[in-house]
Amino acid sequence: MPSPAQRRADEEAEGRRQIVRVCRRMYERGFIAGTDGNVSVRLSEDRLLITPSGVHKGDLLEEDLVVTDREGKPLAGGRRPSSEILMHLLCYQLRDDVHAVVHAHPVHAVALAMAGVSLANCILPESCLSLGLILTAPYSTPGTEEVPAALRELVLRADAVLLDRHGSLTLGRSLTVAYNRLESVEHTARITHAARCLGEVSPLPERQVEKLREVAKRYGWATIPRGCDECNACPNGRAAAPDREGLQGQIEEAVGRYLKS
Ligand SMILES: [Zn+2]
Repeated sequence: MPSPAQRRADEEAEGRRQIVRVCRRMYERGFIAGTDGNVSVRLSEDRLLITPSGVHKGDLLEEDLVVTDREGKPLAGGRRPSSEILMHLLCYQLRDDVHAVVHAHPVHAVALAMAGVSLANCILPESCLSLGLILTAPYSTPGTEEVPAALRELVLRADAVLLDRHGSLTLGRSLTVAYNRLESVEHTARITHAARCLGEVSPLPERQVEKLREVAKRYGWATIPRGCDECNACPNGRAAAPDREGLQGQIEEAVGRYLKS
């Protein structure tokens, strides 16, 4: 029977292996470029393992990873933790069920967010089931306190969040689950993009979404969003772009701000 210290060491070694494997996969699949992206796992109540700042994720080594306390302070010398550690800490502080966090820059998902298109929860039944809500957080300056502030409310409601003009954040009870959610977000974004290029996208009828809700409830899966409230991926979405009047108001407001500045 291994001692508690040995068990902690084994868990940390396994965490290091998993993070390196996921980072390589993220780079190879084009979800990040250069030193982009960051990944963490919760080792215990008071210890976190996270990717370092400024290292290419395709070249990452197990010994490059940083162990920190629950406030993000490194527990040993060596590399600095990711500059985006604040959003990882936020997820672990707010969600006891989360044991891994993955941040990447998936091209289609970020492009759709930039274009004001939220992801099609109500269009692809399997996305509904595996991901639940994919919410988009307003723009915040990377590496600052603005990021957790913009994410706080969304992280409580979703396991997959997009950061406007920046990237994705996916959470999971394990690193495998968090990484799989990243793949699903980007795959959903690619399908949504392809479908919208071909023409109008019709939503899943509400009665079918209702049936999915029943399936999700039966299996204890993700919550299915109700009635397209958060989505503008199809004409039924209620979060669609502002109407003519709303747009006019926004333009007048922006011009007013410009004239005052
Ligand atoms: Zn980023």
